[in-house]
Amino acid sequence: MVAPVLTKAELDALKRALIEQHGVDQVAALWRAEDGDLAAFARESFVPEGQELDAVFARFEANFEQLDGHLLEIGRELRRPSDLDVGPLLKVDPLFAAYDPGAHVTEDLFRNQLAFVVLLNFPLASLEQKVARAQQTSRRGWAEMRLTGRFGRRVPAEVAQSVATAGAAAELYIAQYNIWMHHLVDGSGQRLFPKGLRLITHWNLRDELKANYADQKDGLAKQRTIIRVMERIVTQSIPAVVIDNPRVDWDPETNRVTLAPAESIEDNAPAGARAPKPDDLAAPAPEADVRYAKLWGNFKAARGADPYSPAAPTQIARAFDLGAEMPEARIQGLLTEVLASPLVARVAALIQQKLGRALEPQELWWNGFVARGSIPEAELDAKTRARYPNAAAFAKDIPRILGELGFAPERAKYLAERIIVDPSRGAGHAQQAARRGDFPHLRTRVEPDGMNYKGYNIAVHELGHNVEQVFSLYDIDHTLLAGVPNTAFTEALAFVFQAKDLELLGYPKPDAESERLRVLNDFWMTFEIAGVALVDIAVWHWMYEHPKASLSELREATMATARDVWNRYYAPVLGSRDSVLLGIYSHMINYPLYLFNYPLGHLIAFQIEEQMKKAGQLGPEFERMARQGAILPDQWMQGASGAPVSAGPLLRATEAALGR
Ligand SMILES: [Zn+2]
Repeated sequence: MVAPVLTKAELDALKRALIEQHGVDQVAALWRAEDGDLAAFARESFVPEGQELDAVFARFEANFEQLDGHLLEIGRELRRPSDLDVGPLLKVDPLFAAYDPGAHVTEDLFRNQLAFVVLLNFPLASLEQKVARAQQTSRRGWAEMRLTGRFGRRVPAEVAQSVATAGAAAELYIAQYNIWMHHLVDGSGQRLFPKGLRLITHWNLRDELKANYADQKDGLAKQRTIIRVMERIVTQSIPAVVIDNPRVDWDPETNRVTLAPAESIEDNAPAGARAPKPDDLAAPAPEADVRYAKLWGNFKAARGADPYSPAAPTQIARAFDLGAEMPEARIQGLLTEVLASPLVARVAALIQQKLGRALEPQELWWNGFVARGSIPEAELDAKTRARYPNAAAFAKDIPRILGELGFAPERAKYLAERIIVDPSRGAGHAQQAARRGDFPHLRTRVEPDGMNYKGYNIAVHELGHNVEQVFSLYDIDHTLLAGVPNTAFTEALAFVFQAKDLELLGYPKPDAESERLRVLNDFWMTFEIAGVALVDIAVWHWMYEHPKASLSELREATMATARDVWNRYYAPVLGSRDSVLLGIYSHMINYPLYLFNYPLGHLIAFQIEEQMKKAGQLGPEFERMARQGAILPDQWMQGASGAPVSAGPLLRATEAALGR
């Protein structure tokens, strides 16, 4: 005897009831007392399935295109005098530039209940659910998830403000964290660095370290000194008095602090930098965990926002599930695949051969894989200046550029008609459009004597962004899906253009040797940042597991994690067991949980590049990829290259580069 089955009508009714139940839960999670009678709202606003629901969906899609598109235009036009090279700035211009007309839109939409209509009638899926149903999800299904996704959080203004305040405090702390290099001394009082050199942690310290490879005489000693400074910052044993203070000399090896001789002190010493009393020099107070207080401040603020984000209730979930839209375990797996690759030891051996000595921790930032015999910058400048005396000349050349990149003439014309070129004040950027009828803008910097090579190189990169922006807005089935899965993808697509900049100027393709060096350089950069990203992630897990921890416990935990990752993946090739160097990255303090995007970006770039090479034609391939829009990263990559996001292409390219 077979159990009785529901009729189709009964099944449909059951399904709708379940969806309704689900929708009501979604609404209830974000409903506040002042929003009124939830039950009445739900009865009134629930839309039965079928044509009526389709019509509601279409209305939201059309109206949000108008809302987003026009708000974007207002913001862009108010920033016009600040962004573009169109005459002197008025004092009010920065105020207009700082004004964001869209800042309160989400809360407005909650207050007038449009947001709740969305949450009641369309599914708000967790990343886990999206991934599980990815194969069956239709284009409309992805578009619905984009629609509900914008209302997955309702953070009260004061909570959002405390997140912003903690972020700004961390930002300011890092922005003022300078080391006056002339005042680093060794045991014999010797100074290695020139007067006036003031470096911000960690970016400037790292760049100085890279530049030191060119210094045959003192380079190694300088690098070792910088590494010691970095370790002192991570362990917080750095004396507080030496931070941004050229009035004292400091030996980072022994931690001894002395008064700087008057003649060694820079004229532009910060007003707040004081010489300590001689008594305080005997045992100068360490910085005492200020660094970790800033990190903890971000954590505390994030926890305050957790209850208002039911679909992603931790900062970690928000970074992976909402930001990257890839499961944390998958990203950790990709990073580990690079870190644990046997190629690391082979590339390290090559570096050792080039350096002619055993590797040390500073080789984390080795930058010696550069092509020889490159074209002198002056020659390139002359060429681009002559070709592009102004922004209009670049605009006029876009159809030719796109044609040479492999776009058919009519596609090149179509794109050129939809990209507005403006002269920018800054280095250049691509400004997207958000409604059809408005166009993406390419902002490019042109000096009075014409566009120099750097400006041109950036312009070609930005053009890549603009082309993606046109395709994914104008040539897409759902405007809710305009864009790309995340920033790593748009950067990878822009890089495809940028890498061709010399060929577009009439130079031959890069030779096999410079190609090989480029791949090795990218591999090493990915290896470097992958471990740092793991430390960042692990520290956030630790904080969530120890919400009552003290700052010194947080410091100890961060150091333990940094050591652990170092010992596992870096010590085997760079030595120095128990180094805490991986804890130095400033992003850990002022951009929480962002670091993993960098190595991920390298992997995605190689994967797109490999597919373009395989296809043999850039233009149509670029269009095909870009028109997928903002679906899940793995789905996008599956559609683009036939496989989900993978470390394979980078590792294969590296293997090939080593083999030659
Ligand atoms: Zn870019």
